[in-house]
Amino acid sequence: MLRSDWITTGPAVEEFEEALAAFVGARHAVAVSTGTAALHAATYAAGVGPGDEVIVSCMSFVATANAVVFQGGTPVFADVDAGTLLIDPESVEDRISNRTKAVLAVDYAGQPCDYDTLRSICDRNDLTLIADACHSLGAERDGRPVGTLADISLFSFHPVKHITAGEGGMCVTDDAGHAERMRLFRNHGITVDHHERRAGRTWRYDVVDLGYNYRLTDFQCALATSQLRKLPGWLARRREIALRYGEAFCELEAVEPLRPDPSVEHAYHLYVIELDLERLDVGRGDIFAGLRDEGIGVNVHYVPIHLHSFYRRRFGTGPGLCPVAEAAYERILSLPIFPRMTDDDVEDVITAALKVIGDHLR
Ligand SMILES: *Cc1c(COP(=O)(O)O)cnc(C)c1O
Repeated sequence: MLRSDWITTGPAVEEFEEALAAFVGARHAVAVSTGTAALHAATYAAGVGPGDEVIVSCMSFVATANAVVFQGGTPVFADVDAGTLLIDPESVEDRISNRTKAVLAVDYAGQPCDYDTLRSICDRNDLTLIADACHSLGAERDGRPVGTLADISLFSFHPVKHITAGEGGMCVTDDAGHAERMRLFRNHGITVDHHERRAGRTWRYDVVDLGYNYRLTDFQCALATSQLRKLPGWLARRREIALRYGEAFCELEAVEPLRPDPSVEHAYHLYVIELDLERLDVGRGDIFAGLRDEGIGVNVHYVPIHLHSFYRRRFGTGPGLCPVAEAAYERILSLPIFPRMTDDDVEDVITAALKVIGDHLR
């Protein structure tokens, strides 16, 4: 790879774009430098600009909402469903105004959102539906793959995600116009790329809009293409681990895993449990610390975005805006889940969790 003529913008980029588009069943794929860049390109393609509002799930990584702010828009935070922590379509409807431009849903933990309901809301209100699918590569809803469920879906190839390019991202869409705008956006807003200039024997190019350098390199794409081949096996392993966790924790009443919709084929980027704090004599913080003391890499995903200082200061958000997400946030823990975990690793997590949580039952 490193001996090829191309380090960036060469054939490996297109190869990865085509492979990922084929994998998810989308017509067009545009590779970009990060998942965050993919979010930014998607909000740009949706036409988000100053004064526009985008309804965003509050239960996500902060980049989801930041992408709206990059474009000068206002993120309007929607609450989530208590069983799945996915954006609640009713809350979306409540938040629609005459300035709403798009809905930005997040496939939290790896479960695709209720896109049928979101689609009908978006169609009725002439909104673009964007899926932050950074957790859900390879997931399905009603047998339909993520990547085909929204107007634009986007992925991250950060090392913690299902497949990696070191850093990287991808937007997929069936709409040729959206794809073209995203290609322009990742390359400084320039209309023709160097291939077209060479083919047309011209030095001319035109900058038609403000764009960025969000290109992904050939060697990153070569890595990602080889990772994509391994994805089915890795997904199967994640699902196997999740099944084992589910079995182990149904015995423990103080722990409740999320309750994904039965129509969902989950990609398990995260395995999230909720603690029933009424049954425990300590809070989530002590359980978290106890598990870390046992050597278990637990985490919390996420602090609801509207509670971060920047959002409070800039947009006047704060507690009370999304009560379901705020209540869930006090109780959630993410357990380690990644394909290379051995069965022994999985049992170690279960043993530690049963011990630490068991020690604090009321
Ligand atoms: C990882 C992630 C992002 C950001 O992706 P990067 O590649 O790290 O920029 C955005 N949204 C969600 C939900 C993510 O998990």
